[in-house]
Amino acid sequence: MIPYEELSKEELLEIKSDLDAQFEAIKAKGLNLDMSRGKPSTEQLNLSMEMMDVLTSESDLVCEEGVDCRNYGVLDGIKEAKQLLADMMEVPKDNIVIFGNSSLNIMYDTIARSMTHGVMGSTPWCKLDKVKFLCPVPGYDRHFAITEYFGIEMINIPMTPTGPDMDLVEKYVNNDPAVKGIWCVPKYSNPQGITYSDVTVHRFAALKPAAEDFRIFWDNAYGIHHLYEDKQDYLIEILMECKKEGNPDMVYKFSSTSKISFPGSGIGAIAASDANLEDIRKQMRIQTIGHDKLNQLRHARYFKDIHGMVQHMKRHADILRPKFDMVLSSLDRELSGLGIGSWMAPRGGYFISFDSMEGCAKAIVAKAKEAGLVMTNAGATFPYGKDPKDSNIRIAPSYPTVEELKTACEIFTLSVKLVSIDKLLSNILGI
Ligand code: PMP
Repeated sequence: MIPYEELSKEELLEIKSDLDAQFEAIKAKGLNLDMSRGKPSTEQLNLSMEMMDVLTSESDLVCEEGVDCRNYGVLDGIKEAKQLLADMMEVPKDNIVIFGNSSLNIMYDTIARSMTHGVMGSTPWCKLDKVKFLCPVPGYDRHFAITEYFGIEMINIPMTPTGPDMDLVEKYVNNDPAVKGIWCVPKYSNPQGITYSDVTVHRFAALKPAAEDFRIFWDNAYGIHHLYEDKQDYLIEILMECKKEGNPDMVYKFSSTSKISFPGSGIGAIAASDANLEDIRKQMRIQTIGHDKLNQLRHARYFKDIHGMVQHMKRHADILRPKFDMVLSSLDRELSGLGIGSWMAPRGGYFISFDSMEGCAKAIVAKAKEAGLVMTNAGATFPYGKDPKDSNIRIAPSYPTVEELKTACEIFTLSVKLVSIDKLLSNILGI
């Protein structure tokens, strides 16, 4: 393959006319495809259907503490669900509190509480002139939406293959008391699928924050979401690491069963130090008399233990793997060597991150839309929806079928090529 950049104007025009014809042909099919959100497919949802039969009108609905799950009580979550999620999150059972159906909701509540009431007795953030958050980019749009909603200033921190740029993280956190937090998706990150290296996790745990109320928001949404049995990433457990470094209160860890059982109908949890959890419970006691224990019981009885959950994740992986393979092989076949994009092959999670030539991402997403393919909005992976290089595009392969993905990838790679050629031609023509 000769990189497009090395081709003459005439050669580019010739390739363009051929690609235009291919694009028009596929556009004429009037397709309607979607690679925009990381939703599990129907086939994946079907994997958990037996969970619906676990609780029936005949079931004993008393949990391990002896409480009737149909009634009020047990603020923290029932023992059996706490044990299951504690094992999933690799923390002691006593360092976890189960919430409702969404971890994002817990993250939102955590920021809201810090704004109105402060963190463990410190000044509420709303009373401060400035509150800043570090945002590893590209990252998860819904994280950035929460901090934007509360008027928190977001600072981009570039991701590297081993995690966020830790020199920058240390510089900001250790020197600026207005920096109160950082969003992290430490394993199979959204969208790049990067797992933070041991060194990165050690450096996080050893931070010396200028702000006493600085917290790491460690969103381990994809902790057990491997794609391959023989190639798995390993992430050091952050709570223990922070404790060892004398920073036991510096981290909140979040997770949920959204992409294990049912998104929107799973269970979410937070793990943190005893002191943090006590602070959180003060709000929680006012907020609710207790979360949905029947759903907790359903999950605990269905999976039985972490082994059951791990086995279940293998079935998810069997469905997801061919989809990731389809996207990655299309990108390799169609775009390798052309110098118009780069991507990484993740070992888990829900996304593939694509970086186009600078200034092309928005146009690529728009071009794909013309042919009936919806992608995540370009820019969504950055705070305020602004990708300074206009180059990152998140690909979500989970929902479409493998057949649909094949066509979707055709549209996507054609769009990348066409937009890149237009960009190169306009550079050549000086416009
Ligand atoms: N965190 C990350 C990194 C995610 O990708 C997602 C879902 N796409 C969530 C959180 C949402 O989790 P929940 O359903 O538990 O709110």
